[in-house]
Amino acid sequence: MDSPVYLSVMKKMVYTPGPSQLYFTAEEHLKQALRDNIPAISHRSRAFQSLFQEATESIRNLLEIPEDFSIYFTGSATEIWDRLIENCVTHESCHLVNGAFSKRFGEQARALGRETHVWEVPVGTAHPIEQMLMPESCELIALTHNETSTGVSMQMEDFSKIRAAFPDQLIAIDAVSSLPYPQFDWSTLDSTYFSVQKGFGLPAGLGVWVANERCHEKAQERRDAGYSIGSYHNLFSLREKAQKNQTPETPNVLGIYLLTKVAQDMLGKGMDMIRRETNYKAAFLYGCFERWNGFQPFVSEPEHRSKTVIVVETVQPSAEWVQKLSDKGFVVGQGYGSLKDHQLRIANFPTHSKESVELLADTIEALL
Ligand SMILES: *Cc1c(COP(=O)(O)O)cnc(C)c1O
Repeated sequence: MDSPVYLSVMKKMVYTPGPSQLYFTAEEHLKQALRDNIPAISHRSRAFQSLFQEATESIRNLLEIPEDFSIYFTGSATEIWDRLIENCVTHESCHLVNGAFSKRFGEQARALGRETHVWEVPVGTAHPIEQMLMPESCELIALTHNETSTGVSMQMEDFSKIRAAFPDQLIAIDAVSSLPYPQFDWSTLDSTYFSVQKGFGLPAGLGVWVANERCHEKAQERRDAGYSIGSYHNLFSLREKAQKNQTPETPNVLGIYLLTKVAQDMLGKGMDMIRRETNYKAAFLYGCFERWNGFQPFVSEPEHRSKTVIVVETVQPSAEWVQKLSDKGFVVGQGYGSLKDHQLRIANFPTHSKESVELLADTIEALL
């Protein structure tokens, strides 16, 4: 009998931007979790409370999250889009759109009955922040630090400019495919969030929502005014349980455990080192693709090129590159949506070592 198709990524190095290659320590932690019966821990037990506490402390330390931000677990980042709207927006939200993920957040806000103000720029470009206009009535500004579909990144200055221009609005930053890499100035944002199958290199099925007091105040205001703020995952149910180191529902205990362990490993290695390596690997890959015939980085402004999702245009159909590289043991992503056929997307996450990135580049060069 033929092997099932799902075994086709076995023994290959996965460079797709999510899910991606597991963090290199994840396998050991997974084995240990099974030996220690972690998935069988009751979420109402002391054991879970101690895991929850360790998890939130590790994430807080790793990302240097200030004490006035709370950390909550959800099912995914897509869920957090709904939760942000339900808790923090009564009438209007504003969305900076430059690709599929930023667009979808706006669509979800509309599906929840909110009026959305969408500022869309062509794919592959970043928003010229100085030109940003928005009605004062907007309650939340949705930004995407790293648009995974196009490889465009916002810069830290963009966030401080937006905060200075719109001090009354809540600012929510999607950092799903960039964390843990970015070092945020937490005073420029009210909420950020990620899911674990991208930069953290873990099995999908867990979202992490970071929200400050202003988000909670807004939810309170909405609840007091009689609006629905959603059911089991709202900022009150989450906070009430988090104060007891618990979650409202039976959570992904195994996912929370693995995230805790990987966050601790990353802390041990040091975020400075992880950021330096990320910068090095990104510069190396962009340099190669600029030099090689047949490729061109998709984002033309170097300062807006993502460090964690490298997107390049291909002269040959991208499917041919995907196949050739797969034969050599490297799984890379095609472009997203309508950009699929002539783009490749290559993840540059903490688990992708310098050596393996160099090997990937050597392999492409040999195939040119
Ligand atoms: C993957 C991704 C999401 C969605 O994450 P899920 O875990 O699938 O919900 C949202 N935003 C960005 C930028 C992403 O890359």
